[in-house]
Amino acid sequence: SDLEEEKKRLYSLLDGLPAAIFLQDRQFKIHFANKKFIELFGPLEGRTCYQIIEDSRTPCDDCHTVTMTEDSDPVYEIFSAKDKTYELYQQPYVDYNGTLLIAKMLIDVTEKKKTETEIVRLQSLNLVGEMAAGIAHEIRNPLTSVRGFLQMLSSKQEQNKYRDFYDLMVGELDRANSIITEFLSLAKGSKSEKKRHNLGLILTNLYPLILVDALNQDKEVVFELENIPDLMLDQKEIRQLILNLVRNGLEAMTPGGKLCLRTYLEKEKIVLAVQDHGGGMDEATLKNLGTPFFTTKEKGTGLGLAICYSIASRHNANISAQSGPEGTTFFVKFGL
Ligand code: ADP
Ligand code: MG
Repeated sequence: SDLEEEKKRLYSLLDGLPAAIFLQDRQFKIHFANKKFIELFGPLEGRTCYQIIEDSRTPCDDCHTVTMTEDSDPVYEIFSAKDKTYELYQQPYVDYNGTLLIAKMLIDVTEKKKTETEIVRLQSLNLVGEMAAGIAHEIRNPLTSVRGFLQMLSSKQEQNKYRDFYDLMVGELDRANSIITEFLSLAKGSKSEKKRHNLGLILTNLYPLILVDALNQDKEVVFELENIPDLMLDQKEIRQLILNLVRNGLEAMTPGGKLCLRTYLEKEKIVLAVQDHGGGMDEATLKNLGTPFFTTKEKGTGLGLAICYSIASRHNANISAQSGPEGTTFFVKFGL
């Protein structure tokens, strides 16, 4: 019939659009899904939207499908399902035979979201970098002279009874100084000096150092290095990046824990993976990774990862983390 003909034309129009579009009734049954939808989520096979998109057995808590009526306003929202973020537009739609359906359109904005958080992170790194360059030296100079005077005083005979206090003060100054040194490496304008290096070789050279660190804490280290092509790297920076990740991994584990470092190729990328078997991180920590001065440790500086992220950004590399109760894995992926 003409109506059937018209419906076909409408569906073929929807098929050509770049968003995932589907029509469903208020019992969640999907009446139509366009090509893009099937490409993203697979064939319908009589499944409901929440089974397909969320892998869930019940509708989402705040679903509008049930409440929408013929004259409801369109609803726009952002939602996440299975590691992906979508923009979702939904509006009532009356089918040619009078049935009330809900038309939904999904746009995958996962990459856009990632880029946004990445930009915010880099902006805060930049800001801190500018501060670092500006104030770190100004703080370091007076520290150095105070340290000198303390040492001079402590060497005097009559100060002997205060020896412990002097040692403590010098120790604290040294700690402050080492934080400033770390902070300075975030300084803006610190340029990478890149040469051809093999990540595997840099790791191999670090092995003894990492091993001693691990053994001192009664922990194990395993290296699994696949052959990988050379990269343009600043060796000093990459060593620092590795050590920062290794340190965090070791610190996350109780004695007996095993840290695993891997290199391998994956989809045109060289991957460095640092996996620990610690307690993992909560959602808030995961969100804040790389924010300068964010730390959950009593004696932490919260600079280790910030430095890793800034080194990665200078190496066209990207850092991601996967964390669960069995531990955490950091991935550094270098573009070839
Ligand atoms: P710091 O180690 O000084 O705290 P970092 O920037 O290295 O600073 O790390 C920031 C925070 O990220 C840590 O305090 C910790 O909460 C979390 N974190 C980093 N790596 C791990 C890991 N491997 N396992 C669990 N938590 C981690
Ligand atoms: Mg750290």
